[in-house]
Formats: sequence, C-alpha cells, structure tokens
Amino acid sequence: MAQHFLLSAKARTLSLKAIYAAGEDKAYETFRKLRWPDTNGEPVCPHCGGLDAYEITTRRRFKCAACGKQFSVTSGTILASRKMSFTNLLAAICIIVNGAKGISALQLSRDLDCQHKTAFVLAHKLREAIAAETKGAQVTDNVEVDGAYFGGHIRPRNRKEDRVDRRLSEHQTGKRRVVVAFRQRMGRTLPFVVRNESDAVELAKRVVSREAIVYADEASHWDLLHDGWKTYRINHSEAYSDYGICTNQAESYFSRLRRMVRGQHHHVSAQYLHQYAAHAAWLEDHHRDDNGALAHRMIGLAMKHGVSPNWKGYWQRSAA
Ligand SMILES: [Zn+2]
Repeated sequence: MAQHFLLSAKARTLSLKAIYAAGEDKAYETFRKLRWPDTNGEPVCPHCGGLDAYEITTRRRFKCAACGKQFSVTSGTILASRKMSFTNLLAAICIIVNGAKGISALQLSRDLDCQHKTAFVLAHKLREAIAAETKGAQVTDNVEVDGAYFGGHIRPRNRKEDRVDRRLSEHQTGKRRVVVAFRQRMGRTLPFVVRNESDAVELAKRVVSREAIVYADEASHWDLLHDGWKTYRINHSEAYSDYGICTNQAESYFSRLRRMVRGQHHHVSAQYLHQYAAHAAWLEDHHRDDNGALAHRMIGLAMKHGVSPNWKGYWQRSAA
C-alpha cells in the first residue's frame, strides 16, 4: 500500500528544530523575502513605493529616503504590531500548517508559551489572510456543491422525559449555521456560511462558472441549479457515487472541517465559523504541499494582506 503523503519525507521540509537553530536573523530574512519578493527582500516603502531606505538595524526598521517615513517588514500588513519575535512567529506558522485538522488557540499558546489571546488573535489573522487567496474566485469544470450544519447544539437532557425534539424551530438556539462548499474537482474549495442551505443557490450564480457541470445531492432546493447549469444529482439514500456522479470531494472537505471543529476547537461560534471553514478549505486544497511550502505560502499571503479591521485594535477593545 502506498505510504500516506504526510508520512513521507517529502511532506517535511521545515521543522521547529531548524527554525530555532537558524535563529532570529534567519527568520527575519524569511519574512523580508516574502514581503518583498520582487527585490529579493530589499525594502520597498509602503507609503510611497520608494526603493531607497536607510536601515535602522538595531530596531529592524527602515527610514524611506524619498518620503522620510519609517516602516518595518510587517508595516501595513495583517501582521503589523506583532507581539512575537520573528522566530516565534515562524514557529507559530510551522505549528499551524502542521495541523492537518487545524489547531486550537489553547494548544498553540501552550506550544509557544504565550498568552491564549496572543495565539487566538494570531491564528485568526492568519486564517483571514489565507481565506483571501480565493477571494473573488470562481469554480468551473466539474463542481460539487454540498452543505453541512454547524453549531447551535442543544445538549440532550439526562432523563428521557425531559428531552425536547431538537428538530423543532422553537427548540433551536438560532446559532446553527450551514457551511456550503463549492468544490471544483482537482481545484479550489469555496466555502460560505449561510443560515439556510437554500441561500446557496444565489451564491452559486456568483461563484460557479456557467460553463461548469454541477453535482449535488437530492435536497429539493438544489432543483433550482438545473435552471443555470448542467446538473447531476446523487440520491444519497441509494448510493454515494453513481458512475462519477457524486459529491465525494465536497464530503471530504466537510469531514476535515468536522474533525477540525470537534477535535480541535470543540465549540465554534457562528461569528468565527467562516474562518475555520476557510482554514479547512485551504488545507484541503493544498494537502499535497510539503509543510515548508505551506508555511511560505501562508507568510506570503499574510505579507500581502492589509491590516485587518476585524482584528486591529482587538487588544484595546477587549481590554476596555
Ligand atoms: Zn516612502
């Protein structure tokens, strides 16, 4: 039997051992090269685009010769005002990409010996940055669509006579959401969080190319897809795959997301569900990349992503 990819040496090109052995200067250089790939790590002023800057070596900052403003390698990016050393930041990213089903902020804070909140905010910023990789993207060719419910769990009461029918709307918490995924076979996975699976038909108009062939299960709201696309249906009560008509790749995405939510985060609020959904999609789509390539991809996306209005000032807000 073929060896699982994650067990092969090819899957490992980066390790915590190597990161800490290489030290802070080397980690800093990695961030510089990924922030300014066109100049091989030489600074480009984020204020005016100037290529000439004085280096304030002791503080790892630059002063632009053209506009006189100061900046650092993370200025203007989602990692601006970072709390960690570059070594710890690189180590955090290594730990995050090594988690095939994600990682909880609690575990990350223990591995890095940092505050829970530091790990929580960092992981969410990185999730936001990787989600941007497919922003505005469309899927085409063969596209599987499916939905799955998350959150809003009502714990069953101990005694049978105290239990309620959790399917009834009056017994639901209002926190339940549906993650709908459009997955191109051999391509990208685009997840969305909606209240009802049927809301996804409107989304399909935006993200699924009209040229695509769509595969969906027997749920009646997908009937509307036949108006816009050549659509095949699989009745899951009869079979999971019928001569290539299946939603197996969408299912594979959902099983990763379920393992992430159950195994790592245990509970996710509707507010953050889209971030976990995006994280699982990114891992699914790049599952054949080695961990060094994944870490570089993640840093590259973070360095390209502007300051996040969602997470900027999170510290000040939550301290108040
Ligand atoms: Zn400048």
